[in-house]
Amino acid sequence: MTLAWFVATIALFLGLLFTHRAYWAWVASGGLLLLGWALSGSASWAAFSGVSALFAALALLFGSRAWRSRWVTPLVMAQVGRLLPRLGQTERIALEAGTVWWDKELFSGAPDWRMLFGFRPQELSERELAFLEGPVERLCRMLNEWDVAQAGDLPTEAWKLLKQDRFFGMIIPEEYGGLGFSAQAHSAVVQKLSSRSVTTAVTAMVPNSLGPAELLLRYGTDAQREHYLPRLARGEEIPCFALTGPEAGSDAAATQSEGIVCRGKYDGEEVVGMRLNWRKRYITLASVATLIGLAFRLRDPDRLLGDETDLGITCALIPAHLPGIEIGTRHDPMGIPFHNGPIVGRDVFVPLDFIIGGVAGAGQGWRMLMESLAAGRSISLPSLSVGGAKLATRVVSAYAMVREQFDTPIGRFEGVEEPLARIAGLTYLMDATRSLTAASVDAGESPAVLSAIAKAYLTDALRSVTNDAMDIRAGAAIQRGPRNLLGRVYDAVPVGITVEGANILTRSMIIYGQGAIRCHPFALEEIHAFERGDRDGFDRAFFGHVGHVFSSASRALLLGLSGGRLERGAPTGPARRYVERLSRLSAAFALVSDAAMASLGGQLKRREMITGRLADALAWMYLASATLKRFHDTGHPPGDEPFVAWACNDALAKAEFALVGVLRNLPARPLAWSLRPLVFPLGRRERGPDDACVSAVATAVLDDAEARERLTSGIFIPPEDEIGLGHLEAALRKASEALRIEAKLRAAVRKGIIDRVPGEAMASAGLAAGVISKAELEALHAADAAREEVIQVDAFEAVEYQKLRR
Ligand SMILES: Cc1cc2nc3c(=O)[nH]c(=O)nc-3n(C[C@H](O)[C@H](O)[C@H](O)COP(=O)(O)OP(=O)(O)OC[C@H]3O[C@@H](n4cnc5c(N)ncnc54)[C@H](O)[C@@H]3O)c2cc1C
Repeated sequence: MTLAWFVATIALFLGLLFTHRAYWAWVASGGLLLLGWALSGSASWAAFSGVSALFAALALLFGSRAWRSRWVTPLVMAQVGRLLPRLGQTERIALEAGTVWWDKELFSGAPDWRMLFGFRPQELSERELAFLEGPVERLCRMLNEWDVAQAGDLPTEAWKLLKQDRFFGMIIPEEYGGLGFSAQAHSAVVQKLSSRSVTTAVTAMVPNSLGPAELLLRYGTDAQREHYLPRLARGEEIPCFALTGPEAGSDAAATQSEGIVCRGKYDGEEVVGMRLNWRKRYITLASVATLIGLAFRLRDPDRLLGDETDLGITCALIPAHLPGIEIGTRHDPMGIPFHNGPIVGRDVFVPLDFIIGGVAGAGQGWRMLMESLAAGRSISLPSLSVGGAKLATRVVSAYAMVREQFDTPIGRFEGVEEPLARIAGLTYLMDATRSLTAASVDAGESPAVLSAIAKAYLTDALRSVTNDAMDIRAGAAIQRGPRNLLGRVYDAVPVGITVEGANILTRSMIIYGQGAIRCHPFALEEIHAFERGDRDGFDRAFFGHVGHVFSSASRALLLGLSGGRLERGAPTGPARRYVERLSRLSAAFALVSDAAMASLGGQLKRREMITGRLADALAWMYLASATLKRFHDTGHPPGDEPFVAWACNDALAKAEFALVGVLRNLPARPLAWSLRPLVFPLGRRERGPDDACVSAVATAVLDDAEARERLTSGIFIPPEDEIGLGHLEAALRKASEALRIEAKLRAAVRKGIIDRVPGEAMASAGLAAGVISKAELEALHAADAAREEVIQVDAFEAVEYQKLRR
């Protein structure tokens, strides 16, 4: 009887659940269980009557919208209203900027996989491909990062080419003389440049990221666009964008740079304008800039423009040659010689039409910046990071085959396989994320949360990749000189981590903070309805939210119990299991996230260790889904399966670990305890890549030349006669040929045709016995010579060394 009752309850629960009545599924099955308990005689009839009355009251109140809105909603509104976050103006603008896309699906707990796999990223056009093969290739060939570092600047011909081929105008439409490239193409250019020269990549990417061109395109007046855009596209104006100051770093809105609306003389004429005073630092390209995009707080104490005295953050374009501007000194960012420096302005007077968008743009700067941030942030640093990671993969996979210790290529040691797998697996995941995020920009999105994820997690992944690559290259990684291939990338890692929103802040404050409000199906609606005092709107949003919690709880439980197998939207094919596991985590995330929001309310934004973990969970789910999307779009090449397996296993384990961390640290302990069986009914399921998976990745990147090519496609590969990567690639090719010949010799030993003797003697015996040809013997010698060459490092005469120190 008890069992039958229990089974009936489960059937009712599932039945209601699959007809999307999650809330009633919980209420009715809870009631039924209690009824069964009461009827079984173990509880008194009085208790049973009380419980029944409670369920009846609940059903009446919550089931009828009219009753609920009248009697329940005002009480809920008063209570919940106290928990809702209070948003300041700058925070509100930042939170509401941009769009949400796949992040919203992951946040919902029930991602629509058909949407992701059905989405078609824009492909590179003929013109864009020709640019990559032409000007970008030419520029890469003329660059040598060691020489650039010694000279402290790019060579004159590189600057000339950058301007002449319109690298600074990638985002400027063709009608203004720019290249009008897609986000994918722009990203591909930065990626390729960064694999050759970080200095050049940063120099080319900054004018195409958030700055004068982007702001003019979105908000400039016609006159401003027509004047500046063609000049920027041709490189006749070198722009910089100055937001950061000594007092305002992460908290950029706290800028003390100021403009006062007043009358003054400009070009001999008396006009209403602004007297500007500012101190900015860390500004990329400042020391060579001719045009400064300046962010400052505009005040109008004499009310020359209207009633407001504090107009707010404003962006203007200021010619760098004006009197009062001190510009030209340089910082030295980790020895990477892209131009970066401070700018000071003292009593610089400019007309009001220098404001981007003219007078109408006064006070609109923060909105402009927040709305424009996503596009550039989706491209610049993610692409730079992927270029660096692909270079590291290329270098290390070759070196691990060529460099031998204990008579074995070092890549064959399990200890080396581990970091090698991290490098290759992360590189696949990073590239997939770069490309999906750029594709979303091409599709018209301005992905506020996804761009923050791509920026923070890809720059951080580059740190992991570079550290591992340095460890595998060991001594050869540490000795600086023209042969050192990864030192510059290693030095540049902190730059990517810090700029465009430092990573700690981006992880702990921005990603989840913005995501919780923008991606959550009901949170923003609740806040808006509460602020408007809109009872009906609040009722809809709040009870929609309650229903959402119940449905997330149901999904989390069912997917948790089935290991995700009950997910109905997963595609068939090799990615299916990963999709199912991701669905399970997405449902768990939705529930845990709601629990954190409900129990901490407005406090949540100060609990950055919790929001940081929630950001980790959301981010790793995004990175895993980008990985699966790429695998799907490239037709599931079997050679890529090890990379996908490693990347997904790693990402899913990190996402799950983050959720466990939230539950462990949620201050509302009873809530956390009761969530655990729903979220992890069978305990933790994600364990990360196992040893077999790690070895499969190492084998793929070391032995499958096609998989290695695909993994590192899109970077610059120098000719084989060039010192550094060129020689290393040649050595790898020769070593692979040598391996084939050595296998022939070993087979001859096994058959007793020749004796096993060490090294060179066996090759000579093989030649004498006709096992290998003369050409093959020469190939063995060539492989040895190439190997010998690429394990060398640089050494300097004392005088030369002293010069390097200066
Ligand atoms: C090489 C380089 C190039 C740059 N180029 C430009 C440019 O072209 N234009 C421009 O305007 N700026 C530029 N910047 C500035 C860059 O954007 C800032 O450095 C960055 O915003 C961080 O500011 P900060 O260095 O003052 O760090 P701080 O703001 O002092 O932050 C210090 C640390 O505290 C963390 N932190 C701060 N607040 C919080 C919080 N609420 N929660 C959690 N963590 C927090 C940060 O994440 C960081 O780790 C550049 C910087 C560098 C290094």
